[in-house]
Parts: sequence; C-alpha cells; structure tokens
Amino acid sequence: MQDTKLFETILGLQAPWHIARVALDTSGERVDLWVEHAADAAWVCPACQQPCPGHDHAEERVWRHLDTCQYQTFLHARVPRVDCPTHGVRQVGVPWAAPRSRFTLLLERLIIDLITQCSTVTGACRIARVTWDEAWGVMDRAVTRGLQRRTAAPRRYLGVDEKAFRKGQRYHTIVCDLETATVQYVAADRTAASLQGCYAQLTAEQREALQAVAMDMWPAYIRATVDGLPEGDTKIVFDRFHIMREMTRAVDTVRKQEHRALLREQGTSPLTGSKYLWLYGEERVPADRTEAFAALQTQHLKVGRAWAIKELLRDLWTYRQDAAVRRFFSRWYGWAIRSRLEPVKQVARMLRRHLDGVLRYVKHPITNGVAEGLNSKIMSIKRKAGGFRNAEHFTTAIYFHCGGLDLYPR
Ligand SMILES: [Zn+2]
Repeated sequence: MQDTKLFETILGLQAPWHIARVALDTSGERVDLWVEHAADAAWVCPACQQPCPGHDHAEERVWRHLDTCQYQTFLHARVPRVDCPTHGVRQVGVPWAAPRSRFTLLLERLIIDLITQCSTVTGACRIARVTWDEAWGVMDRAVTRGLQRRTAAPRRYLGVDEKAFRKGQRYHTIVCDLETATVQYVAADRTAASLQGCYAQLTAEQREALQAVAMDMWPAYIRATVDGLPEGDTKIVFDRFHIMREMTRAVDTVRKQEHRALLREQGTSPLTGSKYLWLYGEERVPADRTEAFAALQTQHLKVGRAWAIKELLRDLWTYRQDAAVRRFFSRWYGWAIRSRLEPVKQVARMLRRHLDGVLRYVKHPITNGVAEGLNSKIMSIKRKAGGFRNAEHFTTAIYFHCGGLDLYPR
C-alpha cells in the first residue's frame, strides 16, 4: 500500500479529498500530510449549505492530528473559499476539523477525554503535548458546542447555589438540575440579575414546567424567582441544609458566649473542648464521647437547651402534610422564642418570616444536597485547573465537567 493511501484509509478521507504527499522527518519526529481536493469538486456555503461557485483558496492551514506512533502528525491543506450570494466569501468546511480549530476532530476528542480523566489540566497537556492555552481552546469550543446542542427539555426541580472561584473573589451563581445533577447555568455574580439570566434563557414551556427551586434565603434569589417564574412565589423551597447550618451556627454562638461567661465568672468551664459535640446531629456524636456529652446535658446549660431546639428542628423535614407541619412549626417556634437565647430566637424569627418557603418542602421535597455534591466536584475542578486566570475560565470548567453536555466535535 502506498503511504498516501495508508493515511487516507486511517484518516477516513473521502472524495473529493485525498492525500497528495507524505513527508517523514525522522530527526524532528514528525509526519506531514498534504491534503488536496479534486479539481472538479463541488462546494457548498458553510452557512446555508447551498451549492456555490468556487472563489479561490485560502492560505495553507495546518492541523495537528493524532500522533503516528511516536511522531507528531500534521495535516496541511489550502481550503477553498466559495462566493455565496447570501453570505459572501467563506471558507468551506473540512471533514477532518471543526471551524477555527487547529486540531483535527480526533485529536480534539482525545484532548477532551484527557482533560476529563486526568487529575490536572497540566497533566492532560503534557500527555497530548499541547499548551495550556490550546487545551483551554478545546474546552471552550467543547462547551460552546455542548450548550448549543442542549435541548429545551422540561426540568422540574432546580437548585441555586453560590460559589466563590477563589477565596475573597466574587461569588458565582450556579444553577443545577436537581434530577440529573448537572449544572444548567453559571453567572459571574449573585445578584437578582444573575439568576434572572437563567430563567430568561428558558423557554416559556420550561418556565411553566418548573415546579420548584431550592435556594437559601438570599434576597436577590428570592426576588429573581418571584419576578422570573409564573407564580414564582409559590415555587421557592428554602433549602434544609442552609437552614440547619444557620441553626447549628446559632448553637455554636450560644456555646461560645456561655463558655466565655463561665470562664469569667468561675474561672473554669465544663464546655472546654466540647465545641464539635454540639454541632453533630445526636446520632453522630462519636462513641467515645457519648458519656461525656450525656453528662454535659444534665448540667442545664444554655447550649444544651439550644442544642435540643436544633435537634427538634430536624423533624420539620419528616412531615408529609401541610397541616401537620404547620402545627409542628408553631410548637417549635413557641419553644425557640421563649428560650431566652438570642441567637436561637433570631433563627426562629427568620424561619417565620420565610415560613411558606420553608414548609413548601412538604409539597416539593427537594434540597440542594445534589448541588452540594456538585460543589465538591467544583472544588476538585479548582484543584485540577491549578487556579483560574479569570472568572470565564471557571465558568467554562464548570460547564465542561458538570454540565452533562455533549462535548465532542463531529
Ligand atoms: Zn450561504
């Protein structure tokens, strides 16, 4: 078999394209292939697919292909340009590469796989022998393509969360589909407009189909949802993990204040070293500490009271009927508000202010738990990328790894 035929076969090149020449550079460890087309080939405009007369040829372009054994391999071609009555002079599409890419489709696929599988982007770059910028170019194109291909499938439950791409940096708004655990939307801020942008790109049918959105009590997100969805105020479910985090924080504040007061008044405090015991759920207290913890609970401490109120609040998410959960809340609220523990009362008041959204869990039992799982994935993306030079890179990486997108060129 001739070497030109060999490469045509493994490249899957078809008429009108063929390989005219192969050059092997053993000292440079590279193979160069020149691709040409038949003189009488017919072309179509890349924009409208209409047959068009040939205009001229662009300058020779070079694409890197998969290596031939250990040799880097490059395709060269002068791409014809057509003169379309509607779209003007355009380069025709070539079957081996996506527009604007300097890699062939197969190499681009390989780079996508490497970035997905390697623990760092730098590692993927080293294996594929491409630069960081080239790898980012591949990711960028893959995400653009994936987002364009995404269908307007109805989504029932979304979760909204915020994430800083670097400590002390601005927050990003991340919206995920709770049923498929994929990121649907990323915005580079956490204003009402950030979330509105997500709702705005949904079709009217999708907005209608959306049943509920899990979120924390961030006013901007509430406003965006009330304004951006039909009957938006009936679709908010305040996330139980955020609520329990607030409550746990209140318990911790009570402990700190009490601990300090005891030290001041008595010079000693039974609360020394007990911080985490109060933060666990009851069943999670480590076995070797349960006795000490039980002893602390008999001492009528303020933190013991706060802790019991926190533990009872967890029952709120076990109810399945609206009337029952409302009765439960009103009992719990009465206890919390009479506790004489200011941090606990603050949380109780916050819950009452947002009560409908808190209790809507009965109707739509959704949480941002999925989003929290994605958050840890996003943390690993940060490690993987070894820092992002800008917020856009962060957005691209989230879509690339968590968007559930069809990334491959074809
Ligand atoms: Zn055209």
